[in-house]
Amino acid sequence: MGGLTRLGVAGWPVAHSRSPAMHNAALDAVGLDRWRYQLLPLPPDLLPEAVRALPGVGFAGINVTIPHKEAALALADEATATARAIGAANTLTFAEGAVHADNTDAPGLLAALGDEHPDSAVVLGAGGSARAVVYALAQQGVAVKVWNRSVDRARSLASEFGAEAVQDLPAADLLVNCTSVGLADPSSTFKDLPVRADALGEYACVVDLVYRAGGTGLLREAKRTGARTIDGIEVLVHQGALSFERWTGRAAPLEVMRRAARGTASPNDDPRSRPPVPAPGPARDVGGGRRGGDQR
Ligand code: NDP
Repeated sequence: MGGLTRLGVAGWPVAHSRSPAMHNAALDAVGLDRWRYQLLPLPPDLLPEAVRALPGVGFAGINVTIPHKEAALALADEATATARAIGAANTLTFAEGAVHADNTDAPGLLAALGDEHPDSAVVLGAGGSARAVVYALAQQGVAVKVWNRSVDRARSLASEFGAEAVQDLPAADLLVNCTSVGLADPSSTFKDLPVRADALGEYACVVDLVYRAGGTGLLREAKRTGARTIDGIEVLVHQGALSFERWTGRAAPLEVMRRAARGTASPNDDPRSRPPVPAPGPARDVGGGRRGGDQR
């Protein structure tokens, strides 16, 4: 009988990641009982050595998160066009002595949107997650406008992906928050971003990549206007599902992953986020619900 097949998430720090709970629940659900997904706390200088060593100790692949996404792409022997265009990888697969890089953040966002097919979108932010989101939407032919606190970064991102940088937010079918605003302090949303709670009705659908126990102020106000809301856990689940399918060749048990990601006490995969940890239990109003707040 062979040993364990290992998967994991490399980050620094990474202790609060929801990915092990989500992936281990998925592995159990599809009967892969000799597979395990684990945390890999790795400082940046150890990533190259670790990526070389992991296949030899039973790893089939890993997710990488902050701060490793760009370095992971650079270390890979081959990469998908999506990872190359975004300039970052969140999924490494080890096979036949090679390291393959992919980026499931972009298709994960599209999968989380489901049957929402916007013609226009406003993206807030110009960091790593905004790159994946703008790329994903632009690839779908969506007319994307990008706002960012640092205007130059918005201009540069917009020009790279055929979007337009804006300083005032126009109405659109979709609004996506890719800034970290609202993570540590939910009351900062309407101070730090150029959005008004009473103008959120200008968007049919609002996505907040930030997720936190108790939900974010942005999605709470968006729900109040009747907009469809999709939270960051829903996006996390879909990017995780795509990684899972790539490694295992099995269909990802989405509902199992969703329940595990929502039921875990950790507030955010983002190591920069350390709000108080709530007791485990059913998700409250952090749901990616349709109009009226029902869960997807
Ligand atoms: P980056 O550090 O790459 O980018 C941060 C962005 O937030 C920049 O655009 C920055 O603007 C902006 N920002 C930060 N503070 C402020 C502020 N006070 N006012 C206005 N803008 C601000 O982060 P990521 O793109 O990797 O992540 C962004 C958020 O998305 C994080 O909270 C992360 O947890 C979440 N995320 C969720 C994922 C999911 O699966 N749900 C996946 C990836 C990320 P500036 O350029 O001016 O500094």
